[in-house]
Amino acid sequence: MIDLNAVRADTPGAGRRIFLDSAGSSLPPRPVLDEVIGHLEREAEVGGYVAARERHDDLEAGYGVFAELLGAEPDEIAFTDSATRSWLAAFDAVPLGEGDRVLVTEVEYAGNAIPILHRARQVGATVDTIPSDAAGQVDVEALQELLDERVKLVSLVHVPTNGGLVNPVKEVAEAAHGVGALVLLDACQSIGQLPVRAEELGVDLISATGRKWLRGPRGTGVLVVRRDVRSRLRPRLVDLHSGEWVGPREIKLREDARVYELWETSVADRLGLIAAARYALDLGLDAIAREVRARAERLRQGLRALPGVEVRDIGEQQAGIVTFTVEGWDVVGLRDRLAAEDVTVSTSHRGSTLLDMTKRGLGELVRASPHYFVEPAQVDQAVEAVSRCGR
Ligand SMILES: *Cc1c(COP(=O)(O)O)cnc(C)c1O
Repeated sequence: MIDLNAVRADTPGAGRRIFLDSAGSSLPPRPVLDEVIGHLEREAEVGGYVAARERHDDLEAGYGVFAELLGAEPDEIAFTDSATRSWLAAFDAVPLGEGDRVLVTEVEYAGNAIPILHRARQVGATVDTIPSDAAGQVDVEALQELLDERVKLVSLVHVPTNGGLVNPVKEVAEAAHGVGALVLLDACQSIGQLPVRAEELGVDLISATGRKWLRGPRGTGVLVVRRDVRSRLRPRLVDLHSGEWVGPREIKLREDARVYELWETSVADRLGLIAAARYALDLGLDAIAREVRARAERLRQGLRALPGVEVRDIGEQQAGIVTFTVEGWDVVGLRDRLAAEDVTVSTSHRGSTLLDMTKRGLGELVRASPHYFVEPAQVDQAVEAVSRCGR
């Protein structure tokens, strides 16, 4: 059980506003703020290098914290400045040549699709889409039929940016591994709201962000690189943190996941990110998942009962993202109207998830993503605010 009063007291932004945008950029809790602000103040007192040395042990411990959060080993964790940076570092290291194939799902995110299509064109690889099944999640049988030895990578979005769908991961990973393909899981919308454990899911690479459901600072991301796939990857953008210059013509790259990190980083934000992960672990990911799911389901039910409102979520298993449209409203207008009533939602547009939105004939959606710190009564108030727009 999550103590709602305690988590709300920890969340300075949770007071007046009905905050339904944890899929966009959530409200950080007090321990995250304290770390970030405290460290910036310390940097101002003693300089960034001394301040970082003082926190050396805590920064090192961060790899263990994320290993625990993501079901991996500390040497399988790298910190970056966004999910996209993590994803690009991993993708760029996957060898890809002429005739090779990359598979994506129908809910592929534009931030992944663009670099995949860009690189495929450069090297002469092809990109194919794994169809979804009738319920909306990736169709594992259809995947089996698409797979052959030329498939080098399956890019799998766990929870899409534009809906509550949760894709099956384990089954996809097993099928992909049958032909030796690597599986890169985009866990941007699942980390912090659902348990995401590399060893249980069986994926090779995971990218995720700090600012969404995990409630960390902006400009933070994490990458998981499993030990057993290290030797198959070719890291390219390396610096003096990724390796050592040991002779005039000789370098030695790190063997662990930190080869994908660069030396310079916002130490304050890193400390904040680690605090966010500890906070989530203390509450428990199963408890968080239950609370988020309950709020999202309450919101869906409330919205479904309203005339002119269409809930657009697909998939058999659904998590914390709720998407909908309201007759007679464009989504940006509706978002702003709700903001005037202190209800924060965001919008999702066709270009972010082009394949899925085109298939469903949708141009744009309102996206509401209630975290565990939102009171159930606030969910009902948000539904009432939407119902006033209908009139
Ligand atoms: C937000 C999002 C990303 C990108 O995360 P950044 O931290 O902004 O790079 C990637 N994938 C999905 C599914 C997302 O929703």
